[in-house]
Amino acid sequence: MKQNLLDFDFQQLTAWFAEQGEKPFRARQVLRWIYKSGEHDFDAMSDLAKTLREKLKQTACIQAPMVMREETASDGTRKWLLDVGTGNAVETVFIPEDDRGTLCVSTQAGCALDCSFCATGKQGFNRNLTTAEIIGQVWWANHELGKGADGNWPVTNVVLMGMGEPLLNFENVMDALSLMMEDQAYGLSKRRVTISTSGVVPAIDRLKNHTDASLAVSLHAPNDELRNELVPINRKYPIKELLRSVSGYMDTLSDRRVPVIEYTLIAGVNDHRQHARELAVLLKDFPCKINLIPFNPFALSDYRRPSSSSISNFRQILHEAGYTVTVRTTRADDIGAACGQLVGEVGDNTRRSQRYRDAAEVQKDNESRSNLEQNNETAAQVTGKRFSRADNLAVAIDRPPRPSV
Ligand code: SAH
Ligand code: SF4
Repeated sequence: MKQNLLDFDFQQLTAWFAEQGEKPFRARQVLRWIYKSGEHDFDAMSDLAKTLREKLKQTACIQAPMVMREETASDGTRKWLLDVGTGNAVETVFIPEDDRGTLCVSTQAGCALDCSFCATGKQGFNRNLTTAEIIGQVWWANHELGKGADGNWPVTNVVLMGMGEPLLNFENVMDALSLMMEDQAYGLSKRRVTISTSGVVPAIDRLKNHTDASLAVSLHAPNDELRNELVPINRKYPIKELLRSVSGYMDTLSDRRVPVIEYTLIAGVNDHRQHARELAVLLKDFPCKINLIPFNPFALSDYRRPSSSSISNFRQILHEAGYTVTVRTTRADDIGAACGQLVGEVGDNTRRSQRYRDAAEVQKDNESRSNLEQNNETAAQVTGKRFSRADNLAVAIDRPPRPSV
C-alpha cells in the first residue's frame, strides 16, 4: 500500500525520506508543495528530480478524505461530510467572517464520552481519525475554497470542536497540530489553533511537552453534582482537578494567553442566575475568558435553548463580576452545522446509538399512546379496546453505560 504523506509531520517526513535514501531537505520541499501550494500531484513538484517524482508516484500518495456531501448555509457557512472509510464519515465546518475563516475540525468518528447535550455523543464511537484524516480536513477546505486575492489560504483559524474528544486521540491530534502550526506547512499562529476538551486531565497534563496551542475547556456547570450529569467524564476528573491541570498548562506558555471556558446554556438545567453566580465564584482565581454557547437542539434531545433574556441575564452577572464574556452566535443550524449538531456517519462500536434510537422510538410510541389514551372514548369506540396507563410503563428506558476512559 502507498504511504499517505499527510500522515507525517515534518520530523516524520524527514525520517521517511532518510529511510528512502533521500536527502532530508526533500521533506521541506515536499511539505511546502503539499501545504503551501495545496498540491497533491507529484508531477507538479517541479523542483524535485524527475527520478524522485517517479519513485514517489510508486511508493506514496497525498490523499485527503473524499467528500460525500456538501452543504452551504444561508449565512455562508459550509459543511462537508467526509468519507473516512469502513462506513464512517465525519463533518467539517468552515465559518467565514470578515476578518478570518475558521475551520471546525473533527478528531474522532463519534465520541465515547456521551455528554448529555451533544449529538455526536449520541452516535456512539467507532475510532480515532488518523493524522491524514485530521490535517486532510484543513487541506480539503483550503483546496476547495481556493486562495484569496491576497494569495492566502481561506482557513486562518482552526478549532478542534467538531466530532470527538481531541485529547482521547492524543498522538494523531498532536501530529496534525504540528502541521497546522509548522512554518513549512500552514504556519498558523498558536493563538489561531484551539484544542477544545471536555476535561481529560492526564492528557492536559501531557500537553505542554507536545504543543503550545490555545485551549478551550468545556465546563458547562459550576459544580461537580451538575457537571457529573452533563459531562460524565467529570466523575473521573472533577472540576478542581480539571482547573488545576489547565492552569498547569497555561503556566508553561510563553505569552499571557488565557483558556476559554465554554458553557453551553440549557434552559432550566444550568442557566439559572444562581448558576452564573456560582460560576463567578468558582473561577475567581482562574484567569480565563468565558464563552456562552446557547444550546443547539437536535432530534434525540429534549433539552431546550434558553430565551434570549435568560442568556443575557446570565452574561450580565458574569460581566458584572469582572469576566470577559462572549455569547457564541448560532450559525448554520439550518444545515445542522452548529456546535454539537455534528453527526456524520458512525459505525458505532458501543451500541449506544441504537439504544438512543430505541429509547426515542419508545418515547414516541408512548406519546402517541398517551394521546390515544386522552382520546380513549374515541379510541375505544374505534377499536373496541381500552388502553390502560400500564401499557405506557411497559418498557423502561435503558441508560447507556458510563464511558471507560
Ligand atoms: N469533545 C470536545 C470538542 C467537541 S464539542 C469538547 O467537548 O470540548 C465542541 C463544543 O460544542 C463543546 O464545548 C461542546 O460542549 C459543545 N456542544 C456540544 N453539544 C452542543 C449542543 N447541542 N449545543 C451547543 N453546544 C454544544
Ligand atoms: Fe464528546 Fe465533546 Fe460531544 Fe462530549 S461534547 S460527547 S466530549 S464531542
